[in-house]
Amino acid sequence: MRKLYLPLVLSFGITAVYADNVNYQKIVDQAYSKYKNDNRGKVADYIPELAKYNKNLYAITLITVDGKVYSAGNVKAKFPLESISKIFALSLALQQHGADEVLEKIGSEATGLPFNSITAIEQQPTKTGNGLVNAGAIATISLINAEGMDDKWNLISNNLNDYANAKLSLNQDVYKSEMDSNQHNQAITQLLISHKSFYGDMNETLDIYTRECSVDVSTIELAQMASVLANNGKSIFNGKQLLNAKLIPKLLSQMATAGMYDYSGTWMYNVGIPAKSGVSGGIIAVVPGKYAIAAYSPPLDSYGNSVRAQEAIKYIAKATDENIFNTK
Ligand code: GLU
Repeated sequence: MRKLYLPLVLSFGITAVYADNVNYQKIVDQAYSKYKNDNRGKVADYIPELAKYNKNLYAITLITVDGKVYSAGNVKAKFPLESISKIFALSLALQQHGADEVLEKIGSEATGLPFNSITAIEQQPTKTGNGLVNAGAIATISLINAEGMDDKWNLISNNLNDYANAKLSLNQDVYKSEMDSNQHNQAITQLLISHKSFYGDMNETLDIYTRECSVDVSTIELAQMASVLANNGKSIFNGKQLLNAKLIPKLLSQMATAGMYDYSGTWMYNVGIPAKSGVSGGIIAVVPGKYAIAAYSPPLDSYGNSVRAQEAIKYIAKATDENIFNTK
């Protein structure tokens, strides 16, 4: 009896302390200093303009759902959203078309191939797959309803601004560099058209897709964007309901299964928090109902995920004892 009782008291005690008194600033500072000198990884260079970023930049911002902001590092450094923008376009498509139509037209599969597929071992699918891989993300832009190209860009950029509660700007150098080197995305789009999995004009769609990837953010702005996802779709900062709360699990499920590229399964296994990475070195991570993190550092590992940003998020998740698969 005694043996059972003591551990129970102990574990309830620890849970209560964590729920009420987490020293987030201390944890963010520790995550920052622990990995500041971790020089692993390589800055992306397949988009020439990205290769120019300083490999020593490193920043972390954590925002709790009660609106408190905790930061460390180069929090004023701006970097393009890249793949992280796909989350917010998918949010718009979900809001406009609903979960069933997005599932039918974009999909939600991490590999898109059968469990015993030989091909799956060698290659990713060529069709849309899901809204977070390039094929699905480009198709998502084509699916979003608007009156024309300007109207569509306004809708998408205003949505990003609402999420960030800031007026974000387009990084013209990155945009031009990506437009000049996007032959691969053009090929993907042609394939989608041939599979009838594309719903708009090719040139307009690729232009808008490339623009959304080239929108600049700081970790503070990015954490504000991610905090909407931790807060049932409602901005803590401007009070706008940006995505129906019922659709938030749909978006977070995509981050959980496909947000960290080909490493998503191992990430969820090791960390247990939905995250989305971008090739410029930013990562967002969301603990529903608790907090969101944005971390940034340009050097990437072989999967395309920022080395320092991953380590920082992993450290914070562990130190705050958060894992969406654990009930405490
Ligand atoms: N704009 C980049 C591309 O289309 C985004 C890549 C990424 O961040 O994963 O290749």
